Amino acid sequence: MSYRLRLPGREPVEVPSWGNLAIELVAERAGVKPAVQAWIDESDRPVIARLARELDLATLEHARNGERIGVMLGKRPGDLELAAGEWAKPDSNPGVALGYPDCCSTAYKLWHHSNQHDASYPDIVFTVAEKTTGLRGLPAALNDLFYFFSRNRSPDAEPRRRRLEQLNAGLDLNGLNLIGWHPCSYRCKNSLAVAAKIRAALETLLPELAAVQRLCLSRPVLFWDWDRFAALKGAWRGEDFFYEKVAPPFGALDAKTSDILRRGDRIKASEKTVEVLKGDESLAVYGRGALFLDFQ
Ligand SMILES: [Zn+2]
Repeated sequence: MSYRLRLPGREPVEVPSWGNLAIELVAERAGVKPAVQAWIDESDRPVIARLARELDLATLEHARNGERIGVMLGKRPGDLELAAGEWAKPDSNPGVALGYPDCCSTAYKLWHHSNQHDASYPDIVFTVAEKTTGLRGLPAALNDLFYFFSRNRSPDAEPRRRRLEQLNAGLDLNGLNLIGWHPCSYRCKNSLAVAAKIRAALETLLPELAAVQRLCLSRPVLFWDWDRFAALKGAWRGEDFFYEKVAPPFGALDAKTSDILRRGDRIKASEKTVEVLKGDESLAVYGRGALFLDFQ
């Protein structure tokens, strides 16, 4: 699969769907990203060279991880050297050099540092939600629930990831994020300001992806973990959310939870619990391990 960036007055530029590279390049065009980082194989070098040529970007190969080569793309070679220098530091925090807000980059670093050897550590979404005032009416632009990079530490991540892809055939999960970082809070003003610029560029350069994002990111989500979640189609009535169905993207839920959600039609969420109901009948109450995040 690939994307075609529509640049004014030029032929479309074909971008492979390697991770969220297309969105990162949109952010670069939006002027908010001095350096775009990608891991590539040797055989991918011609593609990077073509992208650099067609998008007027410089490149810098700066790291190796086994067979994989770390490469950066950006307008100014000096910015690439700066980002590569940050990347190479032992306790590296290259977020700001990659265009992420300082507050979010620092918050991510704290989370990452404290969990880097522990696969059972809570998903970063819980840390971000804790820092967020109220979980109703969250901006869809900061929805990072389907942004799996730099966050998933379980040893069985690969098969779980493949299962998610099977459940969402035809939908590029890597395209379901507007920001290429995790915000420090779901109401972070710095992230919102940058996200607005990326959104405006996405509407022009990749309108099809912008439309898919509008559908998939603007929904309340019952969330347990990076691959266990349910996005719900419905509407708020008073204090409760009434839903018609579970909507894409689909999480990899166990049969019991799937059945409860299929039977239910209403969510009652408080600070501590999320309850699924069918009319007035309670079907399940989830405690600390679940969140109901109302992205709109
Ligand atoms: Zn922030």
